Amino acid sequence: MNRPNESFQGRPVVLRGGTVLPMDDARTVLTDTDVLVVDDRVAAVGPRLPVPDGTAEIDASGGLVMPGMIDTHRHMWQTAMRGYGADWTLAQYFVWYYLEHGTRFRPVDVHAGNTLAAVEALEAGVTTVVDWSHGLQTPEHADAAADALLSVPGRHVLAYGNIQRAPAEWATSPELRAFVERHRGNDMLGLQIAFDVTGDPEFPERPAFEAARDLGLAVTTHAGVWGATGDDGVRLMHEHGFMGPETVYVHGASLSADSYQRIAATGGSVSVSTESEQSAGQGYPPTWAMRAHGIPVSLSVDSSVWQSGDLFSAMRATLGADRAREHQEAHGRSDTVTHSALRADQVVEWATRGGAAALGRDDLGRVAPGAKADLVLIRNDDSPVSFPLLNPYGHIALQAQRADVHTVLVDGRVVKHEHRLVGVDLAAVRRGVESTVEHLRASVGEEAWSEGMNPDIPESKVLDNPYTYTDYRDSGTRGR
Ligand SMILES: [Zn+2]
Repeated sequence: MNRPNESFQGRPVVLRGGTVLPMDDARTVLTDTDVLVVDDRVAAVGPRLPVPDGTAEIDASGGLVMPGMIDTHRHMWQTAMRGYGADWTLAQYFVWYYLEHGTRFRPVDVHAGNTLAAVEALEAGVTTVVDWSHGLQTPEHADAAADALLSVPGRHVLAYGNIQRAPAEWATSPELRAFVERHRGNDMLGLQIAFDVTGDPEFPERPAFEAARDLGLAVTTHAGVWGATGDDGVRLMHEHGFMGPETVYVHGASLSADSYQRIAATGGSVSVSTESEQSAGQGYPPTWAMRAHGIPVSLSVDSSVWQSGDLFSAMRATLGADRAREHQEAHGRSDTVTHSALRADQVVEWATRGGAAALGRDDLGRVAPGAKADLVLIRNDDSPVSFPLLNPYGHIALQAQRADVHTVLVDGRVVKHEHRLVGVDLAAVRRGVESTVEHLRASVGEEAWSEGMNPDIPESKVLDNPYTYTDYRDSGTRGR
């Protein structure tokens, strides 16, 4: 499915006459500006650029040129079940995937989900995705996940995980080491280690942290998930010396100031999945706390079992949740917010440069000479929402949608043009996903499949939380 489009193959590309957002510190807006791409890099940014012979021209007039968006946490293998858990809570998600049915996914199912997720991301202008791949039950599952990501021309980071076993087991295995050595050094497929820290005072995750350090890989961890991971896990990571600038804390909700201070002091960043936190119950989307503590933020989708897979939705939800919180707190003090603290340009930065910083990639997330040519052109002449284009950041954060993504480049290669994916066999992707759904449905059984998708509303309220990561209990792990 990597069939290149012949009209662009091997040629420089110039995006002509767009409104360019370089995502520099000054939040510069460059009108009527060209972006020249040669090989995998941005070669020049400026008005009416001279270009090499044979350069392919793309008309960007009336449109916005921005860096490709970066999602720092998406469970791509779950995309084959798009929308299934629309009415789930986090507890129901844990029961379905962790306790009851996650082991039914075969390598071919991980491949199908990952492929669909990767194509979906590209189509929405998300040029880099961290695949928080915690369904890797066997080395064959891991190979299937990686093969799928490599078959789609997006940039990925495979965060290796396995919810079915303790991290100390799989993260220290020779199979994991062999996998890492096989893929190390591929600019299009970075690697991380993905596991969660229970808060057990014995700190059973230590060998997994040591293995990640030994392999030179960052750890990404769901930290600050109500009822599952909390302050104890963060404190233990800190006390044992495993918090660093490369560490990515997912959600970061339901944490105390003490945890935020430890994250800020060690330079890590938080991947905020606002749509997920609002709906599933990890805690209030924490960008307000990140801003208060000076913690860098990136955005993420989490899982298409609930959430939309585009970062326009993530930006919109995040801006809304942060402002809603600010208004609500002010009203509690009989006060009125007269000036919003969180601005549209800030969430656009989180969706681009914020993700690049979380991944330690200063060559991504900006439009400037020398940066990687991961670019998005937002332009939709047929849409009444495409004009007037008065406030570019406001347009991206609150108006634009995936259908407005006209052109996408990754590593200098045109992967979407004139609103259509280039060189992607969507019918084949669909067949793979259909066969996975068929398998899961048959394996789960029709009744359980239907009940899983349509959870009841109990008449007596609160039931015990049926799943937590550990038998260890503290004030944050309720249940049973
Ligand atoms: Zn997650």
